Amino acid sequence: MDEKPDLLVTLKKAGVALPRNIQRPFFVFCPFHRDRKNPNMRVDPRQGVFYCHACGAGGDAISFVGLQLFGPGFNHRNPEMFKRVLEHLEQNQIPKVEYRPPRRSKKLSQEIVQVLTLAARVYHLTLMGKAGTAGRKHLIDRRIDLAAMRRFRLGYAAPGSLVGALAGYPPALRKAAEEAGLFIEGTYGKPRELLARRIIFPDIMRNGSVRHMVGRSSDPNTKVAYKYFALSGLPKTIWGLARVSKRKPVILTESIPDAVNLLQMGFQGTAVGGTGIASYLVKDLKRIPDIILLPQNDERGREAVQNWKELLPHARVLRDYPYKDDEKDLNDQVKRYGLVKAANILRESLTDVGVYIQVVIKKP
Ligand SMILES: [Zn+2]
Repeated sequence: MDEKPDLLVTLKKAGVALPRNIQRPFFVFCPFHRDRKNPNMRVDPRQGVFYCHACGAGGDAISFVGLQLFGPGFNHRNPEMFKRVLEHLEQNQIPKVEYRPPRRSKKLSQEIVQVLTLAARVYHLTLMGKAGTAGRKHLIDRRIDLAAMRRFRLGYAAPGSLVGALAGYPPALRKAAEEAGLFIEGTYGKPRELLARRIIFPDIMRNGSVRHMVGRSSDPNTKVAYKYFALSGLPKTIWGLARVSKRKPVILTESIPDAVNLLQMGFQGTAVGGTGIASYLVKDLKRIPDIILLPQNDERGREAVQNWKELLPHARVLRDYPYKDDEKDLNDQVKRYGLVKAANILRESLTDVGVYIQVVIKKP
């Protein structure tokens, strides 16, 4: 191919409905997550890139077709995948987009909860074992220590680990794993683990069961289309919300590692796991009397918090949070100063908006 494939041409061929004015950035419905209510995918025609604020899918024309063909596991640097995408583009075989409505049932079957809880256990043991060395280093670099890894049952999805663990269980559980989105049917009927090679942040309920999990890509060298990937077969959750006390202030952030840092500091940290809050989660957040929104230090993050504030008018916002220019989020600040000093900075900012929290950081 002589020149870069054009994103607008690709979108048109895929059947994406474009607005009349396509000179400036615009929003369209995202075909990569279940939603027909909110056009969350921002298209920048000049840069030739797109980004979905709800599910995090993003990239250029090649990523768009790659995501259509391979799903969230698409990776530019995989030569096989890249070749297939180029073939489709050259032969003008762009798959048509298919907009799926959100799943109606927000109830999880018992099997799905069982299999998620089991998967979290398997991934946690993997993280704490030999296969988890790189994953542990990634977390420790972010000041998430071994105690926190245990407390939040963080994991690492070594390829094949879950398939192996499930082999001894009844088929109903394996089917539930597929339904939950832990696997998809790969080539030649071989199951592919969607969270493979990712660090796993399970969302743990009060009774210890797991109802959702998010995988963060841990390899800084691969250019995965999704840095964070949530299991698509499940209704989303606000990470950490199930375990908070409503009597104390709750801090809502964008990223889960930030929420983990908050919990380590003794605050009630929770995370959206992205910029967009699914509409069915708003009522859960409205039940928290004292909720504080902590933005990330970039345009997109501040924009997101503005949207959250519209959904949650009673929330307080930590605007102008004292980040340094090179700190893109709370975790960067924690990396720089450590948990104790970062907690002091946060406490001061909270005092400025009228929130007083006594926290005790446990010595490791
Ligand atoms: Zn999306």
